[in-house]
Amino acid sequence: MNEEEVVDPEHPRYQSLMIRKKIAEAGVKGMLADSAMIAHGRGEAFDYLLGEQTIPSALDATREAAARLVKSNKPVLSLNGNAIALAGQEFLTIASQLGCPIEINIFYRTPQRMGALIGHLKMLNQKLDLDVEIMGGIPDARIPGLEGPRGACQQDGIFEADTVLVPLEDGDRCEALMAMGKTVLVIDLNPISRSSRGCTVGIVDEVTRVAKNLIQFIPQKPAATDWNNDRGLQSALDHIVETMSNRF
Ligand code: ATP
Repeated sequence: MNEEEVVDPEHPRYQSLMIRKKIAEAGVKGMLADSAMIAHGRGEAFDYLLGEQTIPSALDATREAAARLVKSNKPVLSLNGNAIALAGQEFLTIASQLGCPIEINIFYRTPQRMGALIGHLKMLNQKLDLDVEIMGGIPDARIPGLEGPRGACQQDGIFEADTVLVPLEDGDRCEALMAMGKTVLVIDLNPISRSSRGCTVGIVDEVTRVAKNLIQFIPQKPAATDWNNDRGLQSALDHIVETMSNRF
């Protein structure tokens, strides 16, 4: 879609088109890598299969993630370009509720992209009258086992965090964070991605819907449970299969 186009609110897939527009606009602002659209497309395909809605198991997983964040001593929100483009405002609100930093972590790191993302979050911080610490600009530590820019992180951010929320993460990084002994909370529409399968709590839902739900759950301070991640993911897969088999 051309980013100049106006989305018709009457369109049956209005929300999805608005999300697509946000990604396109962020691309123009230099916030995203070329592959961002492809990652978004993979997410869209799964969201289509889920009926573009928050299914009950995803809501349970979101409540569990809120509980883990609230009870954490040192939580950090680790955001990539797509997460910032789609829900930067909501993640700043969540960080402010938790009193924790946001650390920007991008796969294809260039000074221009990093600058555009930091600038975007700082602008939103000001707009919302918040003072959330934005980390990631000057990494001074490494996630063991990850080569290249992906492993770069901040010592007093992701490196020392006990709980990390990682929307739209890649499998290797999720695995490396788990190997560091952290509680890893993943948001990923793909229930069979390595990140979803290899994390502590996988939320199979669209990132903007999850962020809005987290904002509701965090003040309620829900209690953590002995969450079974495989069961949550299986429930999402069952939902997809059931929806598809009742289609025609
Ligand atoms: P893995 O390495 O974990 O198997 P991957 O190679 O698919 O994952 P990426 O290419 O980094 O990892 O893709 C990011 C993931 O983000 C995809 O699985 C996609 O389903 C998911 N995704 C994309 N957009 C959204 C969104 N808006 N909300 C939630 N998830 C999304």
